[in-house]
Amino acid sequence: MSDAPIAQSIHDLVHAQDPEAASILKAEGERQASTLELIASENHASLATMHAMGTCFTNKYAEGYPGARYYGGCEHHDEIERLAQDRAKALFKCEYANVQPHSGAQANAALFLALLNPGDTFASLELSDGGHLSHGLKVNISGKWFSPVHYPLVRDENDADFERLDYDAIRDVCMEHKPKLLMCGYSAYPRVIDFAKFRAIADECGAILHADIAHIAGLVATGVHPSPFPHCHVVTTTTHKTLRGPRGGLILTNDADLNKKLNRAVFPGTQGGPLMHVVFSKAIAFGEALRPEFREYQQQVVANAQALAGSLVERNYRITSGGTDNHLMLVDLRTKDAELTGADAEKWLEDAGIICNKNGVPQDPRPPKTTSGLRLGTPALTTRGMGQPEMQRVAELIDRVLSSKGTDGAVRNDVRTLCDAFPLPGHGQAVGA
Ligand SMILES: *Cc1c(COP(=O)(O)O)cnc(C)c1O
Repeated sequence: MSDAPIAQSIHDLVHAQDPEAASILKAEGERQASTLELIASENHASLATMHAMGTCFTNKYAEGYPGARYYGGCEHHDEIERLAQDRAKALFKCEYANVQPHSGAQANAALFLALLNPGDTFASLELSDGGHLSHGLKVNISGKWFSPVHYPLVRDENDADFERLDYDAIRDVCMEHKPKLLMCGYSAYPRVIDFAKFRAIADECGAILHADIAHIAGLVATGVHPSPFPHCHVVTTTTHKTLRGPRGGLILTNDADLNKKLNRAVFPGTQGGPLMHVVFSKAIAFGEALRPEFREYQQQVVANAQALAGSLVERNYRITSGGTDNHLMLVDLRTKDAELTGADAEKWLEDAGIICNKNGVPQDPRPPKTTSGLRLGTPALTTRGMGQPEMQRVAELIDRVLSSKGTDGAVRNDVRTLCDAFPLPGHGQAVGA
């Protein structure tokens, strides 16, 4: 069965008016239904969360904040934004939430505008060690208009903490450069972050501490990863990764003054009208995340990541830092085959219906377009209902593709069979609705 998991009703509606666009929607639905999604930053949102974005909340300008808008007719926009804020605060157990950032990178742009002046120094992990482009890459506003200094991971392979955060080195970097802002939270870091240790360093060097929990937000919301509160002064996140909501951003804090600055930095600082149809969807997704099932889901995400990592190790792949504590892992392909690159692996796996991304491993000698590694995550497969036995199967399928250098064409069919046994959320309900 490879019917589109997206609402058939939306497809039919669009089809009646625009068959050309509808056929692309159908193809994408079929692609998602029939492939294994292992990109660590992706997930399958619920049908309610997806449909919420296709509503009349898209029609309205609601510049400003609840109770203080620049346009009339915002009564229900105030209600829904307050509901989203209240649920975000309940989820992350904090005092203030801004639900308007269009994305994680937008949330971080607002953070920089609120807290720093052009040229100010901040400390972060480099992209090549697992950081994010909005944490100081030269081509991003953060690296072009501000001055990043980067702290390293443990570089000594004989150290028990090899490839983990090096808190002594972080302190050294911060004491030398006295950054105004210290950033933690990453895009490709498989281990627990010790927010209390970061706070001690921030206090010693006089920095504001920021956590970007874009990847681990779902784990944090359910207590599966420790909370950045009360240690961090400000937290930014996406809403569409482990949190499993619509694409978007979110800013959280317990500090009233910071909250005022951050609100102004989002609007009018870096954005105009909020995407209220997405805010509507965020409220619904946050409601889902507050349910007990969501905690079980996040626990399974982590159990699955550990099962997948373990099965890959059995097949001779090295997992950086020796394993994972969260939803993702970095696979070093060189232990399997010194010639194998992340770029080739990504392409061969895609041909077999296994979707992931090439990723540098720490101290990768190969350039970012080639890489020696793959980043794999379990949030999306876990949403489909897969558990540890399926992770062993997925590891076996990955290994068949890579061992055969992409020539084992039978894998594509085995992937389809596995996908059919674990249909996407809402599949069936939507069809013919
Ligand atoms: C994904 C990610 C972001 C950016 O989110 P977008 O919604 O793509 O802008 C920011 N920070 C980190 C750490 C991320 O992993």
